[in-house]
Amino acid sequence: MEDCLFCKIIADEVPSTKVYEDESVYVFEDINPIAPIHYLLIPKQHICCAAKITSENSAVVGHIYEVAAKLAAEMGITDGYRIVTNCGENAGQSVFHLHFHMLAGVKMGWGKEAVQATE
Ligand code: AMP
Ligand code: ZN
Repeated sequence: MEDCLFCKIIADEVPSTKVYEDESVYVFEDINPIAPIHYLLIPKQHICCAAKITSENSAVVGHIYEVAAKLAAEMGITDGYRIVTNCGENAGQSVFHLHFHMLAGVKMGWGKEAVQATE
């Protein structure tokens, strides 16, 4: 197995607060939430980042969006949610296993502040 935090979470070697699981996707609560609802949706297959999505492994990405829609419906999130994936250094990716942040429960801004330099 990859020496990867999220692979270890999927394998239950590192604890997580699981929200959903099926044969190809695992969803859990972000340990450091930035919104009232902050889930991480990850493929069980180790893919390091969005830049490594190919025709061979891309089906799971569509499935992740389906799972997000199902979770939103089940949880009664009718006022919107945001899905974000950070890819690489400039985007601030800190865990190199592809993941989609699902944010909800707050009215979010959008604009230059979303891409302001942090250093
Ligand atoms: P990113 O910065 O886009 O790579 O996002 C990584 C996310 O993983 C951050 O929002 C972290 O708070 C979250 N995270 C890191 N370690 C854990 C963990 N053990 N359990 C849950 N979330 C984590
Ligand atoms: Zn991994």
